[in-house]
Amino acid sequence: MKYRELQIQTQREFPSNVRTQGFGWLARAGYITRENELLPLGEKAIERLRVLSNDSSFLFQLSLPVISNEIEIYFPISTGSVEVANCPSCNYTARVELARFAKTALSQEEQLPLEKVLTPDCNTIESLASFLGVPKEKTAKALMYARLSDNKFVFVVVRGDMQLSEAKLKQQVGDIRPATIEEIIKSGASAGYASPVGLNDALIVVDDLIPSSQNLVAGANETGYHLKNTNYGRDYSAEIIADLVHAKAGDICPECGKPLFVIAAELLAKQNEFYFDKILLALAETHHDDKGLTFPKSAAPFDVYLMHIAGKELDTRAKAEEFYNSLQSAGISVLFDDRDERAGVKFNDADLIGCPIRLTVGEKNLKDGMIEVKERTGKENQLVKNEEIIAGLKK
Ligand SMILES: [Zn+2]
Repeated sequence: MKYRELQIQTQREFPSNVRTQGFGWLARAGYITRENELLPLGEKAIERLRVLSNDSSFLFQLSLPVISNEIEIYFPISTGSVEVANCPSCNYTARVELARFAKTALSQEEQLPLEKVLTPDCNTIESLASFLGVPKEKTAKALMYARLSDNKFVFVVVRGDMQLSEAKLKQQVGDIRPATIEEIIKSGASAGYASPVGLNDALIVVDDLIPSSQNLVAGANETGYHLKNTNYGRDYSAEIIADLVHAKAGDICPECGKPLFVIAAELLAKQNEFYFDKILLALAETHHDDKGLTFPKSAAPFDVYLMHIAGKELDTRAKAEEFYNSLQSAGISVLFDDRDERAGVKFNDADLIGCPIRLTVGEKNLKDGMIEVKERTGKENQLVKNEEIIAGLKK
């Protein structure tokens, strides 16, 4: 392709709304607009990635610091749109809302008799725990939903010190919505003072820690009252016992026992579906220096950036064009900078765009039958005989 055909427009400055370095370099090098829309050069880059993705393991060959499980591949980045739990020790990785973690059960106690106590204005776990002087983990938190498919009332119990993961609940019961006041009253529960003890016609779902937690404080299903010493099995039972709670940073890895980290990330692939715009961003984020992009050879939109420096005696542009045609015939992908710009401008743009090899056709070297070759990430230029370049590039 030729520079002018692709209508490449590089930018001297980073956009003012630059969110990350990678985004900034992609915008400056003319792959995307400042509004994050793909430009023709970006489309070329994605076209190349699409071809690479015929090998479904290609993402692991781009030197990206990805984290993954059997289904998903993520790229950690502060602006990422998903939260991922990750164990750096064993690389356990999962969306945080679905992440498993090793739970610690409370020490076993003898079951004590139920006791109804007056608990005015204690309609949150915090207010209840502080009013009764019990730790939050000795309380049962109630959450009430209705299942979308049949409006079945769903009553959920997790330990008071933990957060429900609706994603995990949905895996157990299907799609849900919050229960209405009418539905709550009909079941015999009382909002803010609810427990599964004595409900009518409810699908009761409890976190798997609940059956092994004795003597929890739970609602009395009567405004202003709670029950002390509720016990699963004796006072109520559930249709479903499952892991329902949300993992957080510092929870214990279910695979190796080390602490989990929670990090922001972008999803790059799920099964064999690839999100190419995110992969392009991940490449730019990982592969750049202070002059521009430094794409790895396999992932660059073009193998070669070819340019000419205007000559006094020779038509270097025509020579470059000739060379461009022979590179193309040899199956090497080339971006030919066919503009009549000053050399400095082109060098800067070559660095910004980040093709792995820059070839410069200049008058003096041409007279010696040479072309200047520079690797994007190398420091030195090399002079190579015209006829040896193609063979060298095809290696
Ligand atoms: Zn681990």
